[in-house]
Amino acid sequence: MAGSRIIIPKSMQKEILDKIHQGHLGMEKCKLRAKSAVYWVGMYKDIEKTVSTCHICQKYRNSQQKEEMISSDIPRRPWQTIGVDLFKEGQEWYLIMACYYYKFPFVSKVKDLTAKTITTVDRGLLAEQGIPEQIM
Ligand SMILES: [Zn+2]
Repeated sequence: MAGSRIIIPKSMQKEILDKIHQGHLGMEKCKLRAKSAVYWVGMYKDIEKTVSTCHICQKYRNSQQKEEMISSDIPRRPWQTIGVDLFKEGQEWYLIMACYYYKFPFVSKVKDLTAKTITTVDRGLLAEQGIPEQIM
């Protein structure tokens, strides 16, 4: 054992590597999966070699999984339901808050993406506009 991780002997490394690689989750997820449970000298190099030479992992490396479109009911009054999201323009991050009824956006520049900054900006806009029933 190495802490809570099992040290895998040379004779079993290939078998464990195959289990780590099962599902073709890509480099980072394979490393995370391995990091939580097993260890051997050169383990990360072995994972890198396996994933980088796997045509399935390489094929899906840069394709992000598409999120399912979730439609919502049109609210009955202004500020009943609002949407909040973050976006980057150039080097700056912004928070956008929009009412689903009017679809009018409020945009605020945020200095960083910490929870403290985001909640401060959120609270400022909600203090001005009111508390909605639902925030998406
Ligand atoms: Zn693969």
